[in-house]
Amino acid sequence: MKKIAVFPGSFDPFTIGHEAIIRRAMSLFDEIIIAVGGNALKKNYYSLNTRKEMIRKVFKNEPRIIIDHYEGLTVDYCKKKDAGYLLRGLRTAADFEFERAIGQVNKAMAPGIETVFLLTVPEHSFINSTIVRDIIRSGGDASKFVPGAINLKDYKSIEAEAFSPEN
Ligand code: ADP
Repeated sequence: MKKIAVFPGSFDPFTIGHEAIIRRAMSLFDEIIIAVGGNALKKNYYSLNTRKEMIRKVFKNEPRIIIDHYEGLTVDYCKKKDAGYLLRGLRTAADFEFERAIGQVNKAMAPGIETVFLLTVPEHSFINSTIVRDIIRSGGDASKFVPGAINLKDYKSIEAEAFSPEN
């Protein structure tokens, strides 16, 4: 049976930390679905379409990587996609505590799905989307924290899109 993993996240925006986890996981799975989630509690900086477009740029030559989005429970989405694995990255002890709770709840809801954690490499452990967003918002250069294929200048935030002349 095909080993399919779902890598869920907000990816607002996608960083080199996310990219590294996925590239390493490619030797473990036949297919990885990067599933951009609608976290109801988070106010997004980039639109869903923009986030998906950025990720598509990074993996445009990787047929085993699928880019999708979902709403609702992650385990329900995994079942719909026949994915037996949930992939997550771990940076810190705080990540671990947060992920432990989610992982155990997911296991209770869907015993057939295994959550697989990959530890980040030390040089990525301080990289998170919140900090990258703050740099962009403040007009700084965040390019070294996002994959080379993503040119941040090509993308507008939801707010900037609302004020662009064509709207
Ligand atoms: P979420 O809102 O679900 O936390 P994120 O986009 O912030 O979504 O993260 C998605 C996944 O990527 C999570 O498992 C997170 O721990 C992991 N991740 C984020 N940044 C890094 C990084 N720098 N190194 C390794 N894993 C990371």
